[in-house]
Amino acid sequence: MTMTTFATLALTIVELPYAYDALEPYVSAETLHFHHDKHYAGYVAKLEELTEGTRYQSMSLEDIVRHSEGAIFNNAAQAWNHIFYFESLSPNAQHHPTGELHKAINAQFGSFEALKKRMTDMAVTLFGSGWVWLATDVDGKLYVVSKSNAGTPLTDGLIPLLCIDVWEHAYYLDYRNIRRDAVENLWKVVDWAVVENRYNSR
Ligand code: MN
Repeated sequence: MTMTTFATLALTIVELPYAYDALEPYVSAETLHFHHDKHYAGYVAKLEELTEGTRYQSMSLEDIVRHSEGAIFNNAAQAWNHIFYFESLSPNAQHHPTGELHKAINAQFGSFEALKKRMTDMAVTLFGSGWVWLATDVDGKLYVVSKSNAGTPLTDGLIPLLCIDVWEHAYYLDYRNIRRDAVENLWKVVDWAVVENRYNSR
């Protein structure tokens, strides 16, 4: 399991933790080439350009997300969100949460299936571009949060656990306009071992 610390250098391109074709047929190699090498890398390049000569240059990516706004926030948050997203997926995914996280999901949402349905429905109905998040607070209470554009629960004081990218670039090559199919298939490669690890480390 790859776990990047987001105290990582802001201008470092984090490689995918699996091969480009590893998530097929649910996410194609073509999509991952564009998504990682063009979109994600594009945010990092733009961030480098925007932060040159500023106080942000010496900050970690997470600190930039927490302490910026406007274009710098947009590009920093998109960089952070993408690293987090790619690391949530795996060709050897554990398909079900266990332990404390599973208990918390059952207590708050009724069942794991109900949580997935809620996140899927929010992803389908999110207007325009954005992200659907599962997050927690330090006490372990769970939150499902929908955010437009580069939005992240980090700026709400929450701890992100999982994100679904609903920007069209995340799915259009494979699913065209059928966002629901893209999200339902994404569940097949979400690694709940990673999500659980984040929950247990909160
Ligand atoms: Mn994306």
